[in-house]
Amino acid sequence: MQDKTILEVNHLSKKFGNTDVLKDIDGTVKSGEVICVIGPSGAGKSTFLRCLNLLEKPTSGEVNFEGTDLTSVDDKHLVNLRERMGMVFQSFNLFPNMTVIQNLKLAPMRVKHVSDEEAEKTGMHLLGLVGLQEKAHVYPSSLSGGQQQRVAIARALAMNPEVMLFDEPTSALDPEMVGEVLEVMQKLANEGMTMVVVTHEMGFAKEVADEVWFMADGYILEKGKPEDLFDHPQNDRAKDFIGKII
Ligand code: ADP
Ligand code: MG
Repeated sequence: MQDKTILEVNHLSKKFGNTDVLKDIDGTVKSGEVICVIGPSGAGKSTFLRCLNLLEKPTSGEVNFEGTDLTSVDDKHLVNLRERMGMVFQSFNLFPNMTVIQNLKLAPMRVKHVSDEEAEKTGMHLLGLVGLQEKAHVYPSSLSGGQQQRVAIARALAMNPEVMLFDEPTSALDPEMVGEVLEVMQKLANEGMTMVVVTHEMGFAKEVADEVWFMADGYILEKGKPEDLFDHPQNDRAKDFIGKII
């Protein structure tokens, strides 16, 4: 099972109007792998991540999720498949009018028709995983940014996804809260979760990523193990970027 491919992208391109935002991207994510996507602002990282679960429809190319090409399935099927891909955004997007545990229970109960009792049990377990069980019955507005993002991660996990997609999950946080979120993500990685993480946290990428993909101008210009990519980048744009951030 170790080598099972979860996501495979072939010749993925995306245009917005006449602008080529993603250009002929290929990539494979295997079960249990952590891929960190790095690169300058405007490179196309968010668009790439959104194409992986078809929140953004590719202009051409394939996105295979566990063997099904998402670009060719109907909307109903797509909704079902997308439920198996968790996504965490820069802004936490919790439902403000619901308590923390209600946030976690909503999708499993509505979408998967899980019982209230089962959703509560799973929700509390996941709050334990992110260290926030004692916050189950408060509203998101009473939590810090770091706590809200940990709830958002737990909420995505409540759907029992096959893969988790993170788009700069710590960029909106005050510096002192970044660590607690990265710690939760590292724990998930250690437990074998398959993850694609767009991040500027190079320490995290170095420590946790199996592979780092460097994006610029809509291309993936270099892929490599973190020690190779950070210490001996081959591509000039990658050299320049890494030289500036490390
Ligand atoms: P990154 O996440 O690496 O900063 P994005 O994927 O957000 O990059 O954006 C890549 C490029 O695509 C940028 O030039 C951005 O302006 C453009 N872009 C992103 N989303 C849209 C959209 N919905 N419509 C038009 N242009 C977009
Ligand atoms: Mg982005």
